[in-house]
Amino acid sequence: MADIIQLLPDHVANQIAAGEVVQRPASVVKELLENAIDAGATEVTLVIKEAGKTLIQVIDNGNGMSTTDARLCFERHATSKIKSAEDLFSLHTKGFRGEALASISAIAHVELKTKSETSEVGTKITIEGSKVISQEPSVVQQGTTISVKNLFYNIPARRNFLKSNTVESRHIIDEFHRVALAHPQVAFHMLNNGSNVFNLLASNSRQRIVAIFGAKTNEKLVPVSEETEILKIEGFVIKPDFVRKSRGEQFFFVNDRFIKSSYLHHAALSAFEGLIKEGTHPGYFLFLEVDPKSIDINIHPTKTEIKFEDEHAMYAMLRSTIKHSLGQFSIAPVLDFNRDAGFDTPYEYTKKFPVAPTIEVDSKFNPFRKESGGVGASTLNYKKNDGAAWESLYVGLNDADTTSGIANIEFESEEVTGKLFEAETEEAGQTTFQLHNKYIISPIKSGMMIIHQHLAHQRVLYEELLKNITVQEAVSQQLLFPLLFNFSKGDVAILEKVREQLEHTGFVFSTTKEDSLEISGIPVSLPESQVTAVLEQLIKDIKEEVPDAGFSQNDLLVKSMAKSMAVKSGTALTRKEQEYLINQLFACKEPSIAPNNKAILVTMDVNDFDKKFI
Ligand code: ADP
Ligand code: MG
Repeated sequence: MADIIQLLPDHVANQIAAGEVVQRPASVVKELLENAIDAGATEVTLVIKEAGKTLIQVIDNGNGMSTTDARLCFERHATSKIKSAEDLFSLHTKGFRGEALASISAIAHVELKTKSETSEVGTKITIEGSKVISQEPSVVQQGTTISVKNLFYNIPARRNFLKSNTVESRHIIDEFHRVALAHPQVAFHMLNNGSNVFNLLASNSRQRIVAIFGAKTNEKLVPVSEETEILKIEGFVIKPDFVRKSRGEQFFFVNDRFIKSSYLHHAALSAFEGLIKEGTHPGYFLFLEVDPKSIDINIHPTKTEIKFEDEHAMYAMLRSTIKHSLGQFSIAPVLDFNRDAGFDTPYEYTKKFPVAPTIEVDSKFNPFRKESGGVGASTLNYKKNDGAAWESLYVGLNDADTTSGIANIEFESEEVTGKLFEAETEEAGQTTFQLHNKYIISPIKSGMMIIHQHLAHQRVLYEELLKNITVQEAVSQQLLFPLLFNFSKGDVAILEKVREQLEHTGFVFSTTKEDSLEISGIPVSLPESQVTAVLEQLIKDIKEEVPDAGFSQNDLLVKSMAKSMAVKSGTALTRKEQEYLINQLFACKEPSIAPNNKAILVTMDVNDFDKKFI
């Protein structure tokens, strides 16, 4: 019999391999985004046309490639990421198989433009169905731009198998989310059919989640954190109150790589046992770090599945860590001091004696005990005082110098304080009333308290904005129709100078011309109608700023905003609003002194009244 075995020509082999690597446009998106991350990019833009069927383009500012590498990268098994099989056990990159570009270029029209830092000019290569059509020098910035056009143009059967644009776009967005969530420190943009869908600034993990899933997500997140010898867990789970009927956001990342694991999912699920109703799905964003030696990611060509060496230990750890966080969430401090080193507190804490923060914990609560009552939300609230909670908020306030216990507590969610407040005031029949639309009067145990509404609100806004600016996790309300403002050139320059801080308070803006500003997002607590007034006041305050080492730029900005945003004297407040304001005031660190150092409240003792009636 004659010899019949032949080696497949490269382009055929590539096409076959492509079947494994590229199932749909979203697979290309994943590979290209991952290559950009591997190349150390700090800014990545994804451009999509017609659900990726006509164009998928990724622009990065990473290392780029030399002319030789630009040609080589389309060869099969061409990779810069591993050299030997051992390297597979210490992987710190997404890619390593050297297959993606070879596969993609076998089944699409690809154009690559790239330049490395050391090359003087860049390279442009066009390649179609594995054939190089052209290669020429090109003037480009450092980094790489890959455009993949007409995917599956030479495999009509595959093209016909693609789903509707809506479905394929959904897959693309899913991949985009996964990569963007795993790399919050990298800025990502996404354009779909010419319109901007995502503009994700470099940020921290929480901000990235909020930027992707919306402002409301922020209050739903419970931080999770644990470190042991074999495993580090960071991330967030969604509070049990917010679980969804449909499978919600469930993300596992292992060493910054999105993975699917029904085993780990089960561990997470079991941590919610007793806290959520049957048929609902918990949400989580969990970032696991393990020694690369202890995992095998090589078992699936698209690398979303993973094998762990010590699966059982991971399961147990994950489950107990989540349980622990859930058990604590109603009392956990809002500020995450690990997150931002540049935390500058303008308060004069130095003059005060440090007092250990007091936090009320339900000592009976055991996160590991299975609740019998289905939804266990009640056990998650911190201990309820019996009847006197409202008044206890005031304890110690008479003495403005004491840092009383309450001033030190910050609750994870306003909701918890809110609930407590509502319940107690109603039950105890407490009442407040407004005097001259300027002061809120409230009875307290020793007499009464008179609160200056404008100053009180300033304090509340001041602390809120300051927290946002320092922790850098403000949420912004996106405006349906961007607001356009004309300022003088100088004024625009002033706002540009404090752009970063403004963005941290929730503003999103671009300078369209030298003298105009387009605002597309504003702080959540700022009504749209007040935007001009707030910005004008801010510009004025910055101009008039007396250089003073004691005050940081942040402090000035926040003070100015709080002043112009706060409810004015002369505004009538409903009883609910009065109560809400008082409630928020006493959740502040310094409820008795306004940001401008004026007293916010005075108390009058019944004894003083008594004296007047002699
Ligand atoms: P792998 O990522 O598995 O190494 P790929 O086919 O995705 O394989 O890429 C091949 C090689 O091309 C990479 O190893 C890398 O050296 C280079 N490369 C691909 N994309 C980029 C990029 N965006 N920037 C710089 N180099 C890149
Ligand atoms: Mg790759």
